[in-house]
Formats: sequence, C-alpha cells, structure tokens
Amino acid sequence: MRQDEYAPAPTLLLRNVTVVDGSAESPAPGRDVLVEGDRIRAVAPTGTLDVPAVVSPARLRILEAAGRTLLPGFFDCHVHVSTSPEAARFDTVLAPESLLTLRSVPALSATLDAGITSARDLAGADSGFRDALDAGYVRGPKLQIALRILSITGGHGDWRTVTGTPLDSGPGAGAVADSPDEFVRATREVVRQGADWVKVAATGGMTGPRRAPESGGLTEAELRAVVTEAERHGVVGVAAHAQGAAGITAAVRAGVRSIEHGYLVDDATLDEMGERGTYLVPTLSALTRPVRQDGPPHLVEQRRRLRETALERLSIALTSGVPVVLGTDAGIAPHGRNLRELALLVRLGLSPATAIAAGTCVAARMCRLDDEVGTVRAGLRADLVLTDVDPLTDIAALGELDAIRTVIQGGRVVKDVASDLGAGQERAA
Ligand SMILES: [Zn+2]
Repeated sequence: MRQDEYAPAPTLLLRNVTVVDGSAESPAPGRDVLVEGDRIRAVAPTGTLDVPAVVSPARLRILEAAGRTLLPGFFDCHVHVSTSPEAARFDTVLAPESLLTLRSVPALSATLDAGITSARDLAGADSGFRDALDAGYVRGPKLQIALRILSITGGHGDWRTVTGTPLDSGPGAGAVADSPDEFVRATREVVRQGADWVKVAATGGMTGPRRAPESGGLTEAELRAVVTEAERHGVVGVAAHAQGAAGITAAVRAGVRSIEHGYLVDDATLDEMGERGTYLVPTLSALTRPVRQDGPPHLVEQRRRLRETALERLSIALTSGVPVVLGTDAGIAPHGRNLRELALLVRLGLSPATAIAAGTCVAARMCRLDDEVGTVRAGLRADLVLTDVDPLTDIAALGELDAIRTVIQGGRVVKDVASDLGAGQERAA
C-alpha cells in the first residue's frame, strides 16, 4: 500500500520536550512542538500554544514527552543503499539485478529506524530508488542520488580486472572517461539519468580494484570540467571520493562541493576548504572497521598504518573549522547503525552539539535542503526523532536502535517503539 493511501496524518502535539537541533550549543527545554500535515506548525514554550485555536481538536494526538529529547531527522550523506557489507564477492555480476534491488528494501528500512530520514546515495541507487521512496512504495530515507562514480581508466571506479573483465556490471558500476571532454559527456550522462549529485574518483581507495588512497584520479582540468558542467545543469554539487592529499587538493581547487573520506588531507588544503566552505564527509564508520587481514603481511600492515595516519589527519581536520557532515559509507559499513558515526565524530574532536549539527543542519545546507529540513523550526518539513537519552551527555547512546523511540517523516509517525503514540494516548486538547 502506498503511503498516500493511508488516512491523512493526525495533528500531533509533542508536549514538554527538550529540543536539541544542532543549530545552537545549548538545548531548549520545555517546548511544545505542533506537527500538522507534513509540516512543523509551531515550536513554543510549553503551555503557551493555543492549540484548539490553530488546529481542529478532532484529530489531535498528544504525546507527553517530558524528559525526552526531540531532534531533527538525521541525514547520512554517504550511503550505498544497494550495496550490502555481507554481500558475496562479484554479486553485482552474478546475481540478477532484482535481487540486488530487493536486498536494499530491508537496508532502507533499517536506515529509517536508525533515525535517518534523508540520505545521499553516492553510487548504486538510480532514480527508481529515489522515486519509489518519494511515492511511499518502500519505507526509508528520502534520497539524493549520484548513480555512479566517474573515474579515469584504471581509477577507483574502473571495475575491471587487468584483462578487462568487468567485476561490476550493476547500476553502481563506475563510468570511465579520460580527458575533460569525455568527462563533460560522462557528467551529462548521469545528469540525463537524474543525478542530484555528480560523483568523481579524485583518488584511489582502500577497497575496490585500485587499493592505494594515494594513487591518482581525475586531473584538476578534468575535475574543473565536471564541476563546470554540473553547475550548468543545476545539480546540487560535485562529490569527490578523495583519500590521498594530492587528489583532495586538486578536487578542492576545482571547486567540488564535498570531499568524501578526506583521509590524508594536508593543512594547506584544510585552510582552502575553510575559505571556500568545502564540506568534509569523513566516513569514520568505514574507516574504523577492522583492518582486512587478507593478502601478504606487509599489505595488512600498510592498511593498519594508513588507518592510523588517516585518524590523525582527520582529528586535525575535524577541529580546523571546515564544515563537517555526517556520512558513514553504509553499504561498506553496516546499514541501520548510521548514528554510531556521531560518537566517532566526537571521539575525533567535535562537540556533541557540532556532531548533531553535522548530521542535521549542516548536512541539510550541503544538500541545499536547509529551507526544507534539518532544524526543528516552524514551517519546515516534520522530519523528527524522539529519544529518551540525553545526546549532549551520551552521544554514543543515540547510535543504539532502542534509543530512537519515535521517528516522524513528513509528519507521519514511521517508527514508534513504545507505542507512545498509540490509541491510549490519543485525546482531544
Ligand atoms: Zn562510498
């Protein structure tokens, strides 16, 4: 059943909550938040709203939420919803596409249950995913999509063996191009297919066929060609997979909107990112996974050292003032544990409030959706998360599924663990 076939959402009054939305360092206790239709209608000190004067009491549901914290619905700005961390090798070649698509249904659902109401898929999901979520065919976060990663021959998105056999023929396979003109064409192709973002491989990576983060990707001229063409078509921005220092620098200079991973970013480039307002999505959930033990010992040791260095560089980056956005690389990291990233961001130097901002208002700004979502403010879409933990004193607790009691998306209660909003609680004001 499509969501729009359900009865219209009731008007909802969350009474006496503490609002923590990342836009301020200090929480706002004692607030009443009124949700009507898909919007936040009002946020006011408890008891000061004349509710019957503004809404019909007939459909009003009240939740006494004293002691609870209300946050904006979160963003995960680096996911691969159609990829599974437990997937068999070469599944994108061997399995039918329908299996890969349907496998993402529980992943999307788990992501929503974790408190993620919006996400950016950076390769794998096509416009069918985004449109199916908008239509309510499946439950999950609203998506912005990039479709595939644009890569040079031999780069991070060139998923072929040395003999040319494709290892990934699915929708997430990279698009290979060489020269600024070819990258213009590749950009137009993903735009034609409905991309909100254009993703490029500015360096190699830790997984995939090219396993050195320091290895090269697009030249600065090729990156500029992508950025210029993407701007011409009015996409949200260009996201650069960039792990080694030189590739990060080239991507920042070319004017990309976000640096994904940014593991070995140097100080000069951090300064430039600060000046330009380039967003950093450090994907710590992926970086802090256990080091893969396959391959010769020197390779395993190299991976371990690289991870240590990356954590050092990112702890400098996170406290340098560049805008940081929450992204987990779920699909590589597990789905549905997205908010564990918050504690990792805090461990590397963000305050709990800044980490929350990274997953809410700053993420919304990066996605150019801050007029629509990302804060708890009257007029915005009612994407909200209610928890009984205090995220400012125990940010790690938000990463646990049980702590996410209620999730509201577009004014609809899409998760409600304790049946707080069940019939017994329903009454007129
Ligand atoms: Zn990724």
